[in-house]
Amino acid sequence: MGLLDDRNALVFGVANDHSIAWGIAKALHEQGAEVGFSSIEGLIEKRVRPLASSIGSTFVEPCDVQSDADIAHVFERWRASGHETIDVLVHALAFARREDLDGAFVDTSRDGFALALDVSAYSLVALAREARAAGVLRNGSSLITLTYYGAEKVVAHYNVMGVAKAALEASVRYLAADLGPSGVRVNAISAGPIRTLAASGIAGFRKMYGAFADVAPLRSAITPADVGGAAVFLASDLSRQVTGETLYVDGGFNILGVPNPEA
Ligand code: NAD
Repeated sequence: MGLLDDRNALVFGVANDHSIAWGIAKALHEQGAEVGFSSIEGLIEKRVRPLASSIGSTFVEPCDVQSDADIAHVFERWRASGHETIDVLVHALAFARREDLDGAFVDTSRDGFALALDVSAYSLVALAREARAAGVLRNGSSLITLTYYGAEKVVAHYNVMGVAKAALEASVRYLAADLGPSGVRVNAISAGPIRTLAASGIAGFRKMYGAFADVAPLRSAITPADVGGAAVFLASDLSRQVTGETLYVDGGFNILGVPNPEA
């Protein structure tokens, strides 16, 4: 018996088999959930559909989260495919222009800032709003997003993405307050560094990634499966009184002041 038997999940953000979204999808599936997928159009046939098929999923729909029409269309298709509700909605996507991550934060352009905030933070609000409008959120639905410590403290090269994650974490709290009375929960997972396509856009990521396991209290690298485990908890009734939270899956890195790599 799985923790998510008879539940469904709609996962936004799979790019390939290294994606955190894919780690989460597999973990939800292992606990009995039926999983549907939405990603940007160019990824669907080559990347997402084969992964979806490997866990028996047939629902795979394109969506650019900058488009309200695209988002509404995904929920329409979800309903048309025989689903009345979404039990678990996973938002595991972000974007910032490379030049806004390479340079100094002070040089962030107005449109680069708007783009990063739109894709990486506002999209969660848009997904929640359109899901509610489509009538697919129910008492017990769980919304989960992905954030990073760079929202709270300055992390080299994270720049505008740190500001976007701060907005995302605040949006989680405001959405949780709005949707809580309907029994809908909204939480974020703050993951430690994982080598993914998005992470490769951050200058110096490899160096930072190497040092992480030497200093994080649990002394090991974070994997998409680790994040998947936390997502199962947030998706299931085990977390029924948890909302508006940021749950760290970072081997304890966030508790450190001055790390001691020799210990
Ligand atoms: P990834 O590259 O596998 O996933 C990012 C996804 O965002 C891709 O599928 C991409 O297509 C999607 N995306 C970008 N713009 C989009 C748009 N306009 N519409 C729809 N989708 C769009 O990388 P990942 O690391 O798995 O990222 C998933 C989430 O996890 C992101 O929010 C990221 O910030 C967060 N995160 C990553 C790490 C890490 O170290 N990798 C750590 C903490 C948090």
